[in-house]
Amino acid sequence: MLYFAASTLCASGIQVTGSHNPKDYNGFKMVLGGRAIYGDDIQALRATMEAESWVLQSGGSRRSVDVLADYTARIVGDIKLARPIKIVVDCGNGIAGASAPAILRAIGCEVTELFSEVDGNFPNHHPDPSKPENLRDLMAALKSGDAELGLAFDGDGDRLGIVTRDGDNIYPDRQMMLFARDVLSRVPGGTIVFDVKCSQRLAPTIEAAGGKALMFKTGHSLIKAKDARSGFALGSEMSGHIFFKERWYGFDDGTYAGCRLLEIVSRAPDAGVLLNALPTSFSTPELNVQCAEGEPHSVVTQLVAKASFAAPAVINTIDGVRVDWPDGFGLIRASNTTPVLVLRFEGHTAAWRWSAFRPTCWPCCARLSPTRIFPRPRIESAGNTHTPTRRPTGSQRPPARHRGARQGRPACSHEGAMPLARVGGAKAQGADRQTVVLGDVRTPCPRCTSAGGAGRAD
Ligand SMILES: [Zn+2]
Repeated sequence: MLYFAASTLCASGIQVTGSHNPKDYNGFKMVLGGRAIYGDDIQALRATMEAESWVLQSGGSRRSVDVLADYTARIVGDIKLARPIKIVVDCGNGIAGASAPAILRAIGCEVTELFSEVDGNFPNHHPDPSKPENLRDLMAALKSGDAELGLAFDGDGDRLGIVTRDGDNIYPDRQMMLFARDVLSRVPGGTIVFDVKCSQRLAPTIEAAGGKALMFKTGHSLIKAKDARSGFALGSEMSGHIFFKERWYGFDDGTYAGCRLLEIVSRAPDAGVLLNALPTSFSTPELNVQCAEGEPHSVVTQLVAKASFAAPAVINTIDGVRVDWPDGFGLIRASNTTPVLVLRFEGHTAAWRWSAFRPTCWPCCARLSPTRIFPRPRIESAGNTHTPTRRPTGSQRPPARHRGARQGRPACSHEGAMPLARVGGAKAQGADRQTVVLGDVRTPCPRCTSAGGAGRAD
């Protein structure tokens, strides 16, 4: 609603929010002159605040406005369901609970609510729908009831999670396939932006619908800034931020995205059948490796400088290291908001070898290699197995050995310059395996040193 107010009443706004982060994280979300501010602009603002060097100007005014009624009317006036739909909505005690259930009822849904009471202690589960463990209650409610679809929102309501009646988590990159086809039916040739975490299936789907696919860095501020520079019809992040420019203002809003999705699926007799027919792969959710402050960027910088992959790998370093093969991809990047390394893997078949994502110089003898950290990766979805006919979009580098790849030298002889994963430090079982504690173990890898080779993982 901050974004709505900043789009309809004025051009700037500020909100205190921790978004999807743990409850002891807090910060500001800012819009300045109609654009998201980030990076150097935020640092400049900090410097101004610390130096108290701002200049007050006379004039201006202040008034209090409750935008809920206008916001609701804007969405209800825009969305047209072809039929009523029964849904379960899990607000995770985040702020969406104050508005989303009523709006969803107003567009014609029959809503079963989970955790709509706004409570910053998040007593039921963390409000982050990108983590499968936060969707368990929603899945259970779908299983025990007769609702057709489940919606989940993050803590500040700008991200959307979708679960079908059969318990399938429709990740945002698959949601985007549906949204892109819908938007492109009215905006032929439009540009669709998505971040480096998204599926290899997304770009071909966009192009098949007549759109231009553009891969970009993760970070909703960055994607919104990209919008200001280049313009796009639709943008998204794998974390669940969806940015509609068509029929909307270009800001990310979980409630509005949910309504757009319901509008599309209401034209089909069964939402689950429509969603499950979207192109899919075998993939992990977003995997987080906990690090010390500052470590993730150092790890990624070294990987960008030293990692090498054999053809036909295509390396993309627009944000971390993403390596695409004809039948899958691996990604490692540094989170923008918390000290974690973010990894994701996708294969077009269950037989895809996760170990393919194994640069010769993974930090300290590949101890961060997914084959060690995630010996049995959770398979989230499975589907068709066709081979893509094109390579991914975005900035690409030539395959094969490149900058700084060191041959015949132990990759972990950097005297502990890089942190080592505490292998086996993963939380016990199942979905919780995605969290791995990155300890400060700094011993050289005996296997690598004794072999004298270039740091190969098993
Ligand atoms: Zn958020």
